[in-house]
Amino acid sequence: MKSEKKMSLTIKILLGLALGIIFGIIANITFEKSLNESIIKWVLGPAGTVFLRGIKMLVVPLVLCSLISGTASVGDIKKLGRVGIKTLVYYTLTTAIAITLAIVLASVIKPGVGGTELLSSVGDFKAAEAPFIMDVFVNMVPTNPIKSLVEGEMLQIITFSILFGIAATMIGKAAEPVINIVKQTNEVLLKIIGIVMAFAPVGVFALISKVIMIQGADVLLKLLKYGVTIILVLAIQAIIVYGLALKVLGRVNPIKFFKKFWPVMVVAFSTSSSNATIPVNLETCEEKLGVPNSIASFTIPLGATINMDGTAIMQGVATVFIAQVYGLPLTINQLMMVVLTATLASVGTAGVPGVGLITLSMVLQQVGLPVEGITLVLGIDRILDMIRTAVNVTGDAAATVIMANSESELDLDIYNSNNTATDIEIEECVLELEEA
Ligand code: ASP
Repeated sequence: MKSEKKMSLTIKILLGLALGIIFGIIANITFEKSLNESIIKWVLGPAGTVFLRGIKMLVVPLVLCSLISGTASVGDIKKLGRVGIKTLVYYTLTTAIAITLAIVLASVIKPGVGGTELLSSVGDFKAAEAPFIMDVFVNMVPTNPIKSLVEGEMLQIITFSILFGIAATMIGKAAEPVINIVKQTNEVLLKIIGIVMAFAPVGVFALISKVIMIQGADVLLKLLKYGVTIILVLAIQAIIVYGLALKVLGRVNPIKFFKKFWPVMVVAFSTSSSNATIPVNLETCEEKLGVPNSIASFTIPLGATINMDGTAIMQGVATVFIAQVYGLPLTINQLMMVVLTATLASVGTAGVPGVGLITLSMVLQQVGLPVEGITLVLGIDRILDMIRTAVNVTGDAAATVIMANSESELDLDIYNSNNTATDIEIEECVLELEEA
């Protein structure tokens, strides 16, 4: 009985996505522009935004509470350091693999060769300032943690929460009441995710159809080869690289992972934001994939902030594409520079829509390519942003499972079970809401 219910929510989300795409295409082709604008203004815009705000509302309090209770329950500072270092090394390596794959495939497929006519559409683009690397570290320490919370400064929130958890562990018994309150608040926030996710099918429908109604198919066709190259590399990264990493490093069945994880990918896809996806990602890792809160609460928000393999792939392909369109071949040294700067740029890319394109300007500047080249790929980027965000969050979750198993803390019974506790809880929320 319960599994029937569970299926129905999962399928509803997929249905929302499929219907949203179909409706978006039909509306874009057949409806008048003014009708489309009205539908977006009165129906799709508000519906999508309410869903988006609903999940964004949970990001800051959930990262704070989840990470404090996670750190406090580790109880062992050495272990925290070990997991931290392993995670950072893993994140950097997978990003470097992602971008290398991107450069190699883009060099073979050559999406930009012969595309000189595209140059006529080049417009102005202001380059983003590359941050001084030491500033990135310095800025991780907040001067006012309340301000960091208000402004959603993820790295600062992470630093403060970890310190809070460590200090509470050091104090021990006397800090238990405050940690208990944080843990209970965390439970309440997880319940709110259940309530918000009950509206995911509608939210996903609204968000995706709006994008397609605005974008239309013609921009996609013009940059088809570029888009297909990126999607191909993204697919290789998600299926082969993460699949192998889960199998070899995590020693778990990758198919189980994808079966349970795809609803999170749909949320990432329709919101284009790793940050907004943190709550669902955390919940899925803990409840469906069997990762303890002490690990997921650290790796997921950190990954959403610094681990962007999908974004790095776009930057690799875009750099090679722009060089090809301008007819400026890249030397091996320049290509290595692309790997290095795109890895750093992906760290510096916030997990919000469209930022990857802005940090791309740093990569282009670094290798001496014209920054205005970005306007060549601007049109198609909205759609590609959705797909790469889904890959970004998959990388975070795969890392989380691998880290948990490397610490012998993955609950394999939960991981291998067909039980998806989250969906059952969400269904219960739907029923409770309907009764109310
Ligand atoms: N939208 C991406 C994310 O949130 C970042 C980007 O590539 O623009 O993960």
